[in-house]
Amino acid sequence: MELYCADCGCLVERGIRVTPCGTSDCCCLHLPVRGSIDAIAAEIQAAFASKDLARFGVLLADDARWGNDVIATFERLLGEGVEGAVIDTTTGPGGVMCQLRVDWPDPTDRSRGGVLYHAYLVRDGRITEIRRYDDRASATEVLNAP
Ligand SMILES: [Zn+2]
Ligand SMILES: [Zn+2]
Repeated sequence: MELYCADCGCLVERGIRVTPCGTSDCCCLHLPVRGSIDAIAAEIQAAFASKDLARFGVLLADDARWGNDVIATFERLLGEGVEGAVIDTTTGPGGVMCQLRVDWPDPTDRSRGGVLYHAYLVRDGRITEIRRYDDRASATEVLNAP
Protein backbone atom coordinates (compact mmCIF):
# COMPACT_ATOMS: atom_id res chain seq x y z
CA MET A 1 0.00 0.00 0.00
CA GLU A 2 1.39 3.37 -1.05
CA LEU A 3 0.73 6.48 0.99
CA TYR A 4 1.78 10.09 0.67
CA CYS A 5 3.24 11.47 3.86
CA ALA A 6 0.82 14.18 4.95
CA ASP A 7 3.62 16.34 6.32
CA CYS A 8 6.22 16.38 3.57
CA GLY A 9 4.78 14.63 0.51
CA CYS A 10 7.11 11.62 0.23
CA LEU A 11 5.42 8.63 -1.42
CA VAL A 12 5.96 5.77 1.05
CA GLU A 13 5.27 2.06 0.56
CA ARG A 14 5.72 -0.42 3.42
CA GLY A 15 8.26 1.76 5.17
CA ILE A 16 10.28 2.51 2.04
CA ARG A 17 10.28 5.86 0.24
CA VAL A 18 9.25 5.19 -3.35
CA THR A 19 9.38 8.86 -4.34
CA PRO A 20 11.19 11.24 -2.00
CA CYS A 21 9.60 14.67 -1.70
CA GLY A 22 12.94 16.41 -2.13
CA THR A 23 12.03 19.22 0.23
CA SER A 24 14.47 20.53 2.82
CA ASP A 25 12.02 19.89 5.67
CA CYS A 26 11.41 16.23 4.77
CA CYS A 27 10.25 14.35 7.85
CA CYS A 28 10.82 10.90 6.29
CA LEU A 29 14.61 11.01 5.99
CA HIS A 30 14.87 8.05 8.39
CA LEU A 31 13.08 5.84 5.84
CA PRO A 32 15.30 4.18 3.23
CA VAL A 33 14.81 5.15 -0.41
CA ARG A 34 13.70 2.36 -2.73
CA GLY A 35 16.62 0.79 -4.53
CA SER A 36 19.08 1.84 -1.85
CA ILE A 37 21.10 -0.75 0.04
CA ASP A 38 19.17 0.04 3.24
CA ALA A 39 15.83 -0.46 1.49
CA ILE A 40 16.99 -3.82 0.13
CA ALA A 41 18.10 -4.86 3.62
CA ALA A 42 14.64 -3.98 4.94
CA GLU A 43 12.94 -5.87 2.11
CA ILE A 44 15.08 -8.99 2.66
CA GLN A 45 14.16 -8.99 6.33
CA ALA A 46 10.46 -8.50 5.56
CA ALA A 47 10.49 -11.26 2.93
CA PHE A 48 12.05 -13.75 5.36
CA ALA A 49 9.73 -12.71 8.18
CA SER A 50 6.65 -13.27 6.01
CA LYS A 51 8.16 -16.32 4.22
CA ASP A 52 7.25 -14.53 1.00
CA LEU A 53 9.67 -15.83 -1.59
CA ALA A 54 7.95 -13.90 -4.39
CA ARG A 55 8.73 -10.72 -2.50
CA PHE A 56 12.32 -11.86 -2.24
CA GLY A 57 12.38 -12.74 -5.92
CA VAL A 58 11.59 -9.24 -7.12
CA LEU A 59 14.75 -8.00 -5.41
CA LEU A 60 16.89 -10.19 -7.65
CA ALA A 61 18.50 -8.94 -10.83
CA ASP A 62 17.38 -10.90 -13.89
CA ASP A 63 20.76 -12.55 -14.19
CA ALA A 64 21.47 -12.92 -10.48
CA ARG A 65 24.00 -15.63 -9.69
CA TRP A 66 22.57 -18.32 -7.43
CA GLY A 67 19.37 -16.32 -7.02
CA ASN A 68 17.04 -18.98 -8.39
CA ASP A 69 19.02 -21.72 -6.66
CA VAL A 70 18.66 -19.89 -3.37
CA ILE A 71 14.91 -19.46 -3.82
CA ALA A 72 14.52 -23.14 -4.75
CA THR A 73 16.54 -24.10 -1.68
CA PHE A 74 14.44 -21.87 0.58
CA GLU A 75 11.25 -23.32 -0.89
CA ARG A 76 12.41 -26.87 -0.26
CA LEU A 77 13.55 -26.11 3.29
CA LEU A 78 10.31 -24.33 4.16
CA GLY A 79 8.43 -27.33 2.77
CA GLU A 80 10.42 -29.57 5.12
CA GLY A 81 9.40 -27.43 8.07
CA VAL A 82 12.72 -25.69 8.51
CA GLU A 83 12.34 -22.31 10.19
CA GLY A 84 14.69 -19.50 9.20
CA ALA A 85 14.84 -15.95 10.45
CA VAL A 86 17.05 -12.97 9.82
CA ILE A 87 18.48 -11.98 13.17
CA ASP A 88 20.83 -9.23 12.03
CA THR A 89 21.74 -7.27 8.93
CA THR A 90 24.70 -5.08 8.10
CA THR A 91 25.03 -2.97 4.98
CA GLY A 92 28.10 -1.85 3.09
CA PRO A 93 28.76 -0.13 -0.23
CA GLY A 94 28.52 -3.48 -2.03
CA GLY A 95 25.37 -4.91 -0.51
CA VAL A 96 23.75 -6.50 2.50
CA MET A 97 24.97 -9.09 4.99
CA CYS A 98 22.26 -11.15 6.69
CA GLN A 99 22.83 -13.30 9.73
CA LEU A 100 20.26 -16.09 9.64
CA ARG A 101 19.17 -18.45 12.35
CA VAL A 102 17.96 -21.81 11.12
CA ASP A 103 15.86 -24.19 13.22
CA TRP A 104 15.96 -27.73 11.87
CA PRO A 105 12.88 -29.81 12.68
CA ASP A 106 14.88 -33.04 12.59
CA PRO A 107 17.40 -33.26 15.47
CA THR A 108 19.84 -35.20 13.27
CA ASP A 109 20.20 -32.06 11.13
CA ARG A 110 21.27 -29.88 14.02
CA SER A 111 24.93 -30.59 13.29
CA ARG A 112 24.41 -28.62 10.08
CA GLY A 113 24.56 -25.52 12.23
CA GLY A 114 22.03 -23.02 13.45
CA VAL A 115 23.58 -19.78 12.25
CA LEU A 116 24.78 -18.85 8.80
CA TYR A 117 25.63 -15.70 6.93
CA HIS A 118 24.54 -14.55 3.51
CA ALA A 119 26.12 -11.74 1.54
CA TYR A 120 23.69 -10.22 -0.95
CA LEU A 121 25.72 -8.28 -3.48
CA VAL A 122 23.73 -5.34 -4.84
CA ARG A 123 24.16 -3.36 -8.03
CA ASP A 124 21.74 -0.75 -9.42
CA GLY A 125 19.20 -1.49 -6.72
CA ARG A 126 18.96 -5.25 -7.34
CA ILE A 127 20.65 -8.30 -5.87
CA THR A 128 23.14 -9.64 -8.39
CA GLU A 129 24.75 -12.41 -6.38
CA ILE A 130 24.18 -14.32 -3.15
CA ARG A 131 27.07 -15.92 -1.29
CA ARG A 132 26.95 -18.07 1.79
CA TYR A 133 29.51 -17.85 4.57
CA ASP A 134 30.04 -19.56 7.90
CA ASP A 135 31.49 -16.53 9.62
CA ARG A 136 30.42 -12.96 9.92
CA ALA A 137 33.77 -11.36 9.11
CA SER A 138 33.99 -12.94 5.64
CA ALA A 139 30.39 -12.09 4.78
CA THR A 140 30.86 -8.48 5.84
CA GLU A 141 34.24 -8.08 4.17
CA VAL A 142 32.84 -8.79 0.71
CA LEU A 143 30.44 -5.83 1.08
CA ASN A 144 33.37 -3.50 1.40
CA ALA A 145 35.45 -4.99 -1.39
CA PRO A 146 35.80 -2.71 -4.42
ZN1 LIG B 1 9.74 13.84 2.58
ZN1 LIG C 1 7.31 12.85 5.73
